[in-house]
Amino acid sequence: MIEKPIPYGHQNINDEDVQAVVAALKSDYMTQGPLIRQFEIDFAKYLGVEYACMVSNGTAALHLCAMALDIKPGDKIITTPITFVASANGFRYQGAEVVFCDIDSKTFLMDLDKLEQILKASPKGTYKAVVPVDFAGYPIDEEKLRRLADEYGFAIVVDACHAPGGSFVDSKGEKQMIGNCKYADFTVFSFHPVKHIATGEGGAITTNRKDLYDKVVLFRTHGITKDPALLDTSDGGWYYEMQELGYNYRITEMQAALGISQLKRLNWSIQRRNEIAKKYDEAFKGMVVKTPFRQVGVTHAFHLYVIQVPTDKRKGLYDYLRANNVNSQVLYIPVHTMPYYRQFGWKKGDLPVAEDYYSKCLSLPMFPTLTEEEQDWIIAKVKEFFNL
Ligand SMILES: *Cc1c(COP(=O)(O)O)cnc(C)c1O
Repeated sequence: MIEKPIPYGHQNINDEDVQAVVAALKSDYMTQGPLIRQFEIDFAKYLGVEYACMVSNGTAALHLCAMALDIKPGDKIITTPITFVASANGFRYQGAEVVFCDIDSKTFLMDLDKLEQILKASPKGTYKAVVPVDFAGYPIDEEKLRRLADEYGFAIVVDACHAPGGSFVDSKGEKQMIGNCKYADFTVFSFHPVKHIATGEGGAITTNRKDLYDKVVLFRTHGITKDPALLDTSDGGWYYEMQELGYNYRITEMQAALGISQLKRLNWSIQRRNEIAKKYDEAFKGMVVKTPFRQVGVTHAFHLYVIQVPTDKRKGLYDYLRANNVNSQVLYIPVHTMPYYRQFGWKKGDLPVAEDYYSKCLSLPMFPTLTEEEQDWIIAKVKEFFNL
């Protein structure tokens, strides 16, 4: 028996991380200092994007994107039901009406053909933003989404909280890092401990659009600016203006220090996650357990390793693994079936592919420090459950 329960995800903190945080604590700044700026520069460089704005968490990042896009009460946006609730909530904070688009049965990501049907059914410009999620670490087809965005007139906000370090190859044969915003207007990330880069709480927004970047920076700090170029007037060196109603969505220097240090191991994390995925793939080949979809040219970031099992076996497997110290997880309960979203008329039965996915899915432990012994144990217990 494995002694300690194996979680489905876990942060990896090493001595270098600890020293970086200690150094930040001993510096002159705890917030609004040089490390936040450094983290932004490093992250933008890693992704190959013009601008990165670090914020307090991924949910705040989504909210800031909605604000920068001037989403107003009653504006419509489209997202996927197979995501964490924050993808939708970030836009609800601005009063948006959230429309859920069903998922693709292979990738479990927003089905872009169904998206097109939704778009076609209303006049152009009806939907202000589309918020796909790179679920589990698999990239949405951003190129196709860009074509739709240009035709129907919406902004693309990719929720890539599962996918830093992932990439895809576009139709021109060029590798595109997720978050480089070649096709998207905004991409958002989270640095929650279960995600690839852990800063406790934390998030990032990336964009190549200066107009949008300036807005998220302003809204991140109360709508206050000291930038001489943006001020109406000036009474002196102390002068600042509050130009919009913003929030305090800042990250701290200690978190930025941790983020800078963690970013250096992102490639290693992706590589380890892919090794773990390959071992799971091979172990379950030909079994009733369905393994994740793979595509040549895609670097899957593998935030999650999601298997599909027959609906009538899923709870049994979950309980069996738990009894054997393997904490698998069911991700996600379709957002449109949440009581909060049901008040807007959404109900079970509306999105059959997502609901079918939910009845079969199980996320097995996936994090870079999962040991060989632990993974062997997990695989053995899954097979044992199915009497194989
Ligand atoms: C984690 C996550 C978020 C929210 O991030 P927080 O940093 O926890 O606020 C949003 N969307 C998805 C898909 C996530 O996994």
